Amino acid sequence: MSGFDYAARMDQARRELTGSDIDVLLVSVGSDLPYLTGYEAMPLERLTIAVVPREGDPVLVVPELEAPRVDRVPGVFTVQPWGETEDVIEIVAGLVGGAGKAMIGDQTWSVFLLELQRALPHTAFRSARPLTEALRVIKEPAEIELLRRAGASADVVAGLLAQHTFAGKAEAVVSREVSEMLEANGTDVAEFAIVASGPNGASPHHEPGERVIGEGDGIVIDFGGTVGGYGSDTTRNFHVGEPSARYMEVHEVVRAAQKAAIVTARPGVAAQDVDRAARRVITDSGYSEFFIHRTGHGIGLDTHEDPYIVEGNGQVLQPGMAFSIEPGVYLPGEFGVRIEDIVVCTENGVDRMNRSSRRIAVVG
Ligand code: ZN
Ligand code: ZN
Ligand code: ZN
Repeated sequence: MSGFDYAARMDQARRELTGSDIDVLLVSVGSDLPYLTGYEAMPLERLTIAVVPREGDPVLVVPELEAPRVDRVPGVFTVQPWGETEDVIEIVAGLVGGAGKAMIGDQTWSVFLLELQRALPHTAFRSARPLTEALRVIKEPAEIELLRRAGASADVVAGLLAQHTFAGKAEAVVSREVSEMLEANGTDVAEFAIVASGPNGASPHHEPGERVIGEGDGIVIDFGGTVGGYGSDTTRNFHVGEPSARYMEVHEVVRAAQKAAIVTARPGVAAQDVDRAARRVITDSGYSEFFIHRTGHGIGLDTHEDPYIVEGNGQVLQPGMAFSIEPGVYLPGEFGVRIEDIVVCTENGVDRMNRSSRRIAVVG
C-alpha cells in the first residue's frame, strides 16, 4: 500500500496512548499493522510485531529473511530484524521493558501472547481493538476512493452477470467465472464469489459446489475483491427463467428492507437502528424468522470489521464509516434472496459504493 500518511496514523495511535494508561501497543498479523506501517506481516510461525511505546520510537521486529520486504517509512518506525537462532520473545520483552499495561492486536497468535505473558509477568495485556478500531473505523478520503473503485469494479461484474448464461453450469464454475470477471474489470484480487442456486440460496455462506444450475433456479451471487487493499462486497439475485410470484414477493420485501436501512443510516444514528429499520420491513411482511443474520458489517482493509450493523450495537454512525447493508430472507428447501451494497456515511446520509441494478436479473 502506498499514498497513505503513515506518520499521521502512527501519531494518532500514540496520542491515543498518551491519553490512556497504556504504556505500549503491540501489533502483529492482521490489518492493524499494514494500517499503521504499510507493512503486512506474513501470518507464519516466525513472529513479526510492531512495538509502539507511548514515548520513544516504534520498532518493527521482523524475521531477518523477511526484512527485505519491508518498505521503510522514515520517521514512522525503525526495523529490527531477528535471526533464526535468536529468541524473538526475549527481544520483544526487552523493548516492552517495564510496561505495566500493554495493548495487543486481537489477531495476534495466542502462542506469542502466551510466551510474552510468561516473559513479562508484571505486564497486563488487553485487546488493542478499542484503539485500532477508533482509527480504522473512520475512513480517510483516499481509503474511500479505493472502496469506491472496488465497488465500481463489482458493479461492472453485476452488469455482466445480468447478461450471463447460467443454465447447465455448476455453481463452482460460475464462481470461478465471477472471480475472473472481477480481476478483468479493475479488481486487484478477487477474494470470494458465493454462488448459491435453488435451495442452496437459503444458506447465506454457501460454498459453491457441483450443483448444476437449471431452469427455475433463483441464484444468490455474493462477491468481492480488493483494490489497493480495500474491499468490495455486493450481492445480487439472478433467476433462470421467469420467477414465481412467491420469489418476486420475497425479493420485493428484501429490496424494501434494504432501502429502509439505507435511508435510516446517517450520522448520529446508532448502528442497531439501521438493523432495526431493515428488520421491521421483513417482520411486517411475515418473514422475520427467515432473516437469520445481522444487517451489515464494516469494510475496509478487512471485509468484515467495525462497525457491525446489529441489534445491541449502540455505536453511533459518523461520517467516514463504511459498511454493508445486506438484509436477506432464506427459505429452507426453497430459495434465498439477499441484496447487499457498501455505503459510506456522509454528513447527511450515505454515499453508495454500489450502483448496479438491484432488480431480479432474469437470465438463461
Ligand atoms: Zn457474509
Ligand atoms: Zn457479501
Ligand atoms: Zn457482506
